Amino acid sequence: MKLQFLGTGSGMPSKQRNVSGLALDLSNVTWLIDCGEGTQHQMLYTKIKPRKVTAVWVTHLHGDHVFGLPGFLSTRSALDGASPLTVYGPKGLKKWLEVTLRVTGSHLGYELTVIEYSDGDTFIQDDHLVTVRKLEHRFPSFGFRIDGQKKPGMLRVDLVKELGIPSGPIYRTIKESDQFEFEGKWYDSKEYVTEPIPGKIVAILGDTIPCENAQKLADGADLLVHEATFMEAEQALARKYGHSTTREATALANACAVGKLIVTHISARYVGREEEFVQEVVSDFPSSLVATDFLEYTVGD
Ligand SMILES: [Zn+2]
Ligand SMILES: [Zn+2]
Repeated sequence: MKLQFLGTGSGMPSKQRNVSGLALDLSNVTWLIDCGEGTQHQMLYTKIKPRKVTAVWVTHLHGDHVFGLPGFLSTRSALDGASPLTVYGPKGLKKWLEVTLRVTGSHLGYELTVIEYSDGDTFIQDDHLVTVRKLEHRFPSFGFRIDGQKKPGMLRVDLVKELGIPSGPIYRTIKESDQFEFEGKWYDSKEYVTEPIPGKIVAILGDTIPCENAQKLADGADLLVHEATFMEAEQALARKYGHSTTREATALANACAVGKLIVTHISARYVGREEEFVQEVVSDFPSSLVATDFLEYTVGD
């Protein structure tokens, strides 16, 4: 799984940071997490292909997270070979999209499915399991826990060779079937293959203050993407606007023992104070990054 940030600012775009947008590359398909205004323009500076986007996951309906969606959906229609697309989001998304597309006379040349999720829902999309949980914000906001595909275990060649089996297509059979036959004898494949390799877990949270569901989503994740709209000194402001501070993001990363933390949704008030901001995050949770527009990060291999 490879992530690329398309917008890492909060509220309104700045020259340094566009509003929320994040692409998730799952090798043969791409997902978008939020699609703030200008997201499709940001994509022009990357290798992301809009027609290969199969799903858009909307964390909440605040404008800085969705105002780019109708434009993205329409542009995609003008591209040859656009795949069917599913947009997942909270209640209200379907009506808003329907009205916007209808009033503007936008006809999509591909199949669009809009799914309105609720707290606790799970979905299988492109062989990945996604769990949705409600967070705490001024407005209904949600987070996603994405479980990557399990990979089959490795063939224990030493043991297979001991049986006198020469390399060939049978190696594949051993990896992919429960049992295999060699010279009239049946064997249990499990004993000749290592344990399956678990998929990577990525937790991506919408705007939120610290809450229990954030912990559930992030628990043991390989990567946590969390908002940090404010620094610790602006804690009162963060609470007033339903956002988190740097220290609240790192506290969650520590409590959930995540492998990596990336903070995003950063207020424009910190332009020119990037070093200070990074310092506050990294000092609390060393395995962390402060997202910048176009930052790429690969989870696992
Ligand atoms: Zn926001
Ligand atoms: Zn918001």
